[in-house]
Amino acid sequence: MLPDISTLAQLQALDADTHRLQTRLAELPKLLQAERKSVEDLKKRWDSSQSLIAANDRERRQLEGDITLRQTKLTKLKKQIEQAANEQQVTAFQHEIDFATAEISKAEDRILELMEQAETLAVETKDHEAAHASALKTAIANFKAAEQENKSGQATLGSNAARHKELLSGLPGQMSTLYERLRKKYKSGPIVAEVVGGACEACQIDLRLAFLQKIESEPDGFFLCEECGRVLHYNPTVKAVEG
Ligand SMILES: [Zn+2]
Repeated sequence: MLPDISTLAQLQALDADTHRLQTRLAELPKLLQAERKSVEDLKKRWDSSQSLIAANDRERRQLEGDITLRQTKLTKLKKQIEQAANEQQVTAFQHEIDFATAEISKAEDRILELMEQAETLAVETKDHEAAHASALKTAIANFKAAEQENKSGQATLGSNAARHKELLSGLPGQMSTLYERLRKKYKSGPIVAEVVGGACEACQIDLRLAFLQKIESEPDGFFLCEECGRVLHYNPTVKAVEG
């Protein structure tokens, strides 16, 4: 390989690495944002199951209060019915007694229902709390790791940039201009393409026969693919092995 082409190959490998790293560092904040959102969602789920428990508890206390009031009233009504003056009063008191008894029974049924719900809610809340705690712990670890990855990534980008400059300055002016032009066109892909089976390996186009013969007769020559403009690298031994 010609020294200049070897430098171009080093540059393309370096720049491909830089491109990969930049892509990764750019997606890190998005990954962290998604993780933050999922922890927040788990916190909301936990909060909402805690609210359900509180509402359940409030309703039960309210019903218990109602039952106490109705029982007091019931005791009073039972005394009043004994002292009733006529049949009409007895009927009226009995009606009130039946109503209060039915209401107490209804409230007691609802309390049983609420107690069953409370048991389920307690289990759920505990699960939600554990899921949130575990996700939070993982997220904190991932945030720390991402911070570290970003720090070392930025350092690598810095040294890559310095190395890029150094390699580029070692090339003849025309060639470094050519490289930068091709790099703009091919952001992360190869700049130097092997000639394989008579074709450019990068764009897969078969080279014109006359052009191919010229390359084969000047293995140390400098040629650009007529289709994609990349720098062609021809290795006669590869061809010999394949042939
Ligand atoms: Zn090509």
